[in-house]
Parts: sequence; structure tokens; C-alpha cells
Amino acid sequence: MTRSAECLPDGRLEDTYKRHINYLRISITDRCNLRCIYCTPRGRIQKLPHSAILRYEEITRIARIGAALGITKLRITGGEPLVRKGVDAFLEQLTEIAGINDIALTTNGIVLKKHLDHLRGIGIKRLNISLDTLDPQKYAKITGHNGFERVWSAISAALEKGFSPIKINVVALRGINDAELTDLAALTLRYPFHVRFIEKMPYFGPGLADASPPLTENDIRRIIAPIGELEDCGKSRCQGPAARYRIKGAPGEIGFISPVTHHFCKWCNRLRLTSDGWLRSCLLSNIVTDIKTPLRNNATDTELARVIVAAVEKKPLEKGQTDPEGKCGSRMYSIGG
Ligand code: SAM
Repeated sequence: MTRSAECLPDGRLEDTYKRHINYLRISITDRCNLRCIYCTPRGRIQKLPHSAILRYEEITRIARIGAALGITKLRITGGEPLVRKGVDAFLEQLTEIAGINDIALTTNGIVLKKHLDHLRGIGIKRLNISLDTLDPQKYAKITGHNGFERVWSAISAALEKGFSPIKINVVALRGINDAELTDLAALTLRYPFHVRFIEKMPYFGPGLADASPPLTENDIRRIIAPIGELEDCGKSRCQGPAARYRIKGAPGEIGFISPVTHHFCKWCNRLRLTSDGWLRSCLLSNIVTDIKTPLRNNATDTELARVIVAAVEKKPLEKGQTDPEGKCGSRMYSIGG
């Protein structure tokens, strides 16, 4: 039996299936300085016009209203969030929102280094950095950019400056980085990184250069088995999408995020805001709610709060598949992962 989504008197936002929604992932741009073969289609891509993208003050307002409804955690993503002009000041404004106690950033790391001191200064410590290979040539092949050294140097600097956790997102790519997954896992023996192997999601529209079938979590586990036994960190999938492990004595962790073979829907606490102002209550379904139109038509905070609650109300029990035609920006670079 389902109920309506509601904001409970104790400030908790619940969906119709009694999932506690406290995590808003915000994509602040559809632009990216990389063209990863599993994310961005080949050829010319249609960029959203500037006017279609939410202004920073609009995003901050939504985040503030979300916080009043019970959102406590934000993740800033993109496109590549660090390529949007004015991002440092914007992030600082987010840190001032009452009720938000956790802000994390997902980045490809290309221009991260110059932002590190500011991020630390405003109290943002949690970084997810995408890095699918340790081979500079392969990096260029996967991303279309000769940037491995810059990313590695930003990761090293982040470690030195005390960012924690530093999560390294690795999309497992059949025939491309599969022979390297053990080396990537072995980073956790030397560094306190959380290396997270992500099953490639094949749902995000046509035209991608990499059309190989995804490597599953089981495939990845088999590939990295020689590295040693994985000890369960005791963090089950109900505490986040990753199943988390550690090789005995290692400073770092190995995680598996498996949207293809292991659904996390039952524990999903997420709501997403796309850069062009759609609330998405499920990454893998096309159910969306327009918040930009009311926002730009002078809606009050109470009316916008209702739009957020309505979006939560539409959160499906389980993932569907996104529309291959890419309705409402159902491309990873516009949703932000
Ligand atoms: N530009 C930032 C970055 O590279 O981390 C943030 C945006 S990116 C879309 C967020 C995450 O989504 C990255 O870790 C990326 O590897 C992942 N991603 C993109 N397309 C994917 C796909 N088809 N399957 C699984 N993960 C994907």
C-alpha cells in the first residue's frame, strides 16, 4: 500500500515507500572538458543555451528549500562542475545553508588542483574523482584528452591537503581497462583512497563510442581476485550504493557500484536536480518534475517546496530504463551521475 510523499514533523522527507530522502545531487552544468567514450556521444553535441541553465542563485534557493524539507547532504556534479564560472563562490554559498551538513563534489580532476585550497577553506572535504586508467595513453583514448598527469597530480595534492575520503570512480570497460582493474584496486594498498568500480550503465542514449556490453560486478570481482581476499567493511548497500571492502591491512577501500546487476533502489535516498531545472527522483527512469518554470514564474518558497515534495512523491519503487532518445537530458553528462 502506498502513501503520499510527505515532509514529516521531525523534518524528514519521505517518499511513498517510506524511503527517507535526504540527499540532493545537483548538476550545475551540462558542459564538460572531457568526452568520455561511455558518457558523451561522438560528434557535435547539442549544448543547452545559457538561459536554460539554472543560475547559481536559483540552485541555492532550491537547495535551501530542500534543506528546510529535510535534505542534509548535497553532491555537486555536472558535466564538469569545476568548469562553470563562479563555482567557488557558489559552493561557499551552499556551505552557509542551515541544515546542510555534508557537501561533496564529483569531478574529473582536470582543473581540480587550483580549487583545492578554496574547497578546504570552506570545509568541503569529500571528493569523488573519476579516473578509469593509470595509463596516460589509455586515459587520452577514453576521455579524448591528454590529461592523466594533471588528474594524478590533483589527486596527490588533495591527499596532501587532507581531503577525505578521496573516492576514485572507475567505470569498468570491457576490452579497455579490464586488464588494469587489479592495478587500480592495488592503489588501496598504498593510499587511503576508496577505489569504486562502477558497472557501466548502457541506458544513456545512442551514439556513444563505447558500445561494449558492461562488465558486471561479478566479472570485476573475478578480475581483481588475485589481489587478495576482500574483507567486508561492514557497510552494506543500505548505507550507500557501494558494497565496500578492504584488503587486509590496506589503508584504502574497494567498492562496487553495480547499477546493472545489484539494485540499490530499496535504500535509495536520492533526488537529483539537472542543470536545466528538472528534478529527477530516479537516475534510471524518465520521471521528471519541472521546477524551473515555477521558479521563474515567481513561485513562493512554499510553492517550490510543494514541487519538491511532488517530485519525491513520483519516486518509483524500482528503476526503469531511461529513454534512449534522451528526453529531458537523460545523458549522464547532463544528469551528473
Ligand atoms: N565530470 C564529472 C566526473 O567526471 O566525475 C562529473 C560528471 S560524471 C557524469 C559523473 C560520474 O558518472 C563519473 O564518475 C562517470 O565516470 C560516471 N559515468 C558517466 N557515464 C556513465 C555510464 N554510462 N555508466 C556508469 N557511470 C558513468
